[in-house]
Amino acid sequence: MPPNFLTSVSSHADHAVSRLRSTRLAASSKPYVARGSGGGRCAGCRLIASHCICALRPAVPTRAGVCLIMGDIEALKPSNTGWLIADVVADTWAFGWSRTAVDPALVALLADPQWQPYVVFPAEYASPQRVVADLHAATGNAADASGKRPLFVLLDGTWAEARKMFRKSPYLDSLPVLSLHPEQVSGYRLRRSAHQHHFCTSEVAALCLALAGETRAADALAAWLDVFSAHYLSVKRHQPLDRESEAHQRLRALGLTPLGSALPPAAPATAATAASPDNSLPQESSPECLPAPPSVPCPPTPP
Ligand SMILES: [Zn+2]
Repeated sequence: MPPNFLTSVSSHADHAVSRLRSTRLAASSKPYVARGSGGGRCAGCRLIASHCICALRPAVPTRAGVCLIMGDIEALKPSNTGWLIADVVADTWAFGWSRTAVDPALVALLADPQWQPYVVFPAEYASPQRVVADLHAATGNAADASGKRPLFVLLDGTWAEARKMFRKSPYLDSLPVLSLHPEQVSGYRLRRSAHQHHFCTSEVAALCLALAGETRAADALAAWLDVFSAHYLSVKRHQPLDRESEAHQRLRALGLTPLGSALPPAAPATAATAASPDNSLPQESSPECLPAPPSVPCPPTPP
């Protein structure tokens, strides 16, 4: 059982992304001025108190791990969905990316023999011999035979940042590149109505978990993103929050939420609670998403 399995329901997130956020804030020479970074937010989920989702957070053990390599201010964004991955996948790491330096802990993680890392990136950007379309193809089932656990390396930032990270990170060059199949993507997308042209980092992670055979964790992460999005957009759009939405029901149906039913109904968002500068969310239409990789049938966002 992952060490933080039993403590995953908490009003305060203590996971890789929250720690990276704290580190990044401490390193800032001036305060990060994104709207919504002020007081009134829950430290566990980054939402205002009336919309806190901490008690709904699913707890599910996973064999796979996730290594997030994040763009400069990614961890600071209240809408970053790498945070949601760290909520659900106990073995999640998060590192800030720099062109000129690499965290020795990242190098050590990638070399750890218990893990088989895969850089998740479109095949077009990698040499063909590095590209794998499924986890078994990389090793001819050797990963399973050797007991190695899949570690999905996700480059979390804008699409331009992600391409730069991929090109200018020599420590990634020797790793297999996992490129998602269009049919996997379309099959997954059938169940979703939002994000028609973008993949959030957490959606990519959910797809990877599904590829690794961790269907339950994949479903939990997908539902968790949808619940987060519902709460986030309720605040942003000043709309009442439907706690019986399809997303909430899907999350609840997974039976992974120990305290989910204990959360009292919160007052719907009002202009007074949602519109003050300190409590407002950034000017984004939806949680932070990556443009769809060119290998899937979605047009990239123009620069
Ligand atoms: Zn919360």
